[in-house]
Amino acid sequence: MTGASRGIGRAVALELAAAGAAVVVGYHRQREQAEAVAAAIRAAGGAAEPLQVDVRDPAACEAAVSGTVDRFGRIDILVNNAGTALEKLLVDTTPAEWNDLVAVHLTGMYACTRAALPHMLSRRYGRIITISSIWGITGAAGEVAYSAVKAGQNGFTRALAQEVGPFGVTVNAVAPGAIDTEMNSFLQGEELREWLSRVPVGRLGTPEEVAALVRFLAGPQAGFITGQVISPNGGVVV
Ligand code: NAP
Repeated sequence: MTGASRGIGRAVALELAAAGAAVVVGYHRQREQAEAVAAAIRAAGGAAEPLQVDVRDPAACEAAVSGTVDRFGRIDILVNNAGTALEKLLVDTTPAEWNDLVAVHLTGMYACTRAALPHMLSRRYGRIITISSIWGITGAAGEVAYSAVKAGQNGFTRALAQEVGPFGVTVNAVAPGAIDTEMNSFLQGEELREWLSRVPVGRLGTPEEVAALVRFLAGPQAGFITGQVISPNGGVVV
């Protein structure tokens, strides 16, 4: 999985390992944190390897998948989680910032999925889960570029599910509301109070709550769920 060094990705890696999966702990810059996640999984009796992969580079995604298959023999589950945020008005969003968001969220998802799919199709089994966002469903002022790439992930999910459903591969997106991670550290004071006033359960979600849903979707029991965008968001009306 990608982006497993911290935040939601870290929680997903730990949860999938607890469910018995051998986990490739993908990271971009935080090698020590990724090594710590892998060490925690191994200490609990699981199997895990940290692996540096900048998802903006399709060749790196391909190498990561082939390295995973070499190391573990197969790939059952791909979690596209790597992500970066951008809180900016569209008029202030530069072409470089736009292209970077597209590269991380869309090109990365495309490249990792394209690399993993042949290994799943040949075995007629696979689980592809992308961590999208509630903003990809509703849109958000001040995050137009981020909303656009997250909506793109949702469209990719719905379309690919139809393409590979006949081959035993399910494709779903998990589209969380605001979760308590570094990505949301900007949410403070009045801005945080304003957001929470719109959340019926009155709090941020936890990475572990997102991970529990990913665990379910990643399991063999979720074979009839595909092409879905499921939003754990504390009851926000979408
Ligand atoms: P986070 O704590 O900021 O962690 C981001 C993760 O993505 C890190 O593991 C980071 O790796 C990795 N990453 C960033 N750029 C990368 C790149 N170019 N190549 C590979 N990995 C890269 O974020 P988070 O809150 O856990 O978010 C995880 C996902 O959930 C994202 O897709 C985000 O859009 C989505 N999401 C988050 C929220 C939320 O409220 N937090 C809500 C909805 C959706 P390094 O640590 O190595 O830099």
